[in-house]
Amino acid sequence: MKPTIITDIACYITNPSRHNLVIVKVMTNRGVEGLGCATFQQRPLAVQTAVLEYLKPILVGKDANEIEDLWHLMMVNAYWRNGPVLNNAVAGVDMALWDIKGKLADMPLYQLLGGKSRTAIAAYTHAVADTLPELFSEIDRIKAEGFAHIRCQLGFYGGIPDDLATPDNPIAGAYFDQDDYIENTLYMFKEIRAKYGNRLHILHDIHERLFPHQALRFAKEVEAYHPYFIEDLLPPDQNEWLAALRAQCATPIATGELFNNPMEWKELIVNRRIDFLRAHVSQLGGITPARKLAAFCEAVGVRIAWPTPSDITPIGAAVNTHLNIHLHNAAIQEVIPLTKELKTVFPDYKEPQKGYFYPIDAPGIGVSIDENELLKYPVKYRPHEWTQSRIPDGTIVTP
Ligand code: MG
Repeated sequence: MKPTIITDIACYITNPSRHNLVIVKVMTNRGVEGLGCATFQQRPLAVQTAVLEYLKPILVGKDANEIEDLWHLMMVNAYWRNGPVLNNAVAGVDMALWDIKGKLADMPLYQLLGGKSRTAIAAYTHAVADTLPELFSEIDRIKAEGFAHIRCQLGFYGGIPDDLATPDNPIAGAYFDQDDYIENTLYMFKEIRAKYGNRLHILHDIHERLFPHQALRFAKEVEAYHPYFIEDLLPPDQNEWLAALRAQCATPIATGELFNNPMEWKELIVNRRIDFLRAHVSQLGGITPARKLAAFCEAVGVRIAWPTPSDITPIGAAVNTHLNIHLHNAAIQEVIPLTKELKTVFPDYKEPQKGYFYPIDAPGIGVSIDENELLKYPVKYRPHEWTQSRIPDGTIVTP
């Protein structure tokens, strides 16, 4: 195979709507370029520095065909590894290399990986509201678009705190009460089932906001409403508690959005403590580790639900679609509607149709960028208040 020499690497940060998105572009001597998503929206400049100052010098002059070797080179070259900044930087390059390989082969990524496992991947979107009638009208709107799977949240993460008993002069933060949250979320499930019956697939994200004993109680009580999955019941450092949970109920557990390091998921998967792995592809280090992790999950019956939140580029979302079309154990793909500004920067991204994402048939990842448009939206730092979550006495907790 003719070498495809890396001649240059660029890294853009663009903020077309609310989030800082990080894009890596790898250029080659054969005129073929690749794009990847390296979005860590809370720390974008750190990722950009890692790409341009540390990865680019070890990659320029290397053969882009050898993705496996380059991935390991990028991962071990700093000696310390598996953190979110470096993993996202590595992922941006890794996706761009797969994009190049697909373009050279004239094949879409899912074909390069081995072809389809399904016609299309089921999509789910979010219904969020502060009152039950508003939530119902959101659900009705989403159902009318053809979705059979909906993530339902009554209020923001932590629910709708009412009448919080905080001490005087509380520290600034996003307050919630865990017991209120459990009560209003169980009420939400009960009312949705009463109104819509059992055919609607309900998903819910706890965002790791409960203490372990509360998480166990919630999981047991929500079982009666048979959710499609409950996401991030616990923070990763408390996942050993899932062994106790599995012994007490059959509530489907999805977790992994915060995982960076193989040590965080090996035990959970081998011991079948989760039903859906929800690792974030750029947070893992890209397509190269994601497909190996998916195979590891397939061997023990764990299904895949890569996150596709609004702080991901349409390049990263398209990578998820390719993986989900190919992987036999892929279950579902999240969708966030694109704003008109995002559509100008990523003009050819395909949105789902009637509750499904269909295969993307352009070579490589199949998403281009308009570089003039993306430069109109420079990086913008905003303090992340929602991650300053506190319980009523003022203690800061995992967001
Ligand atoms: Mg989540």
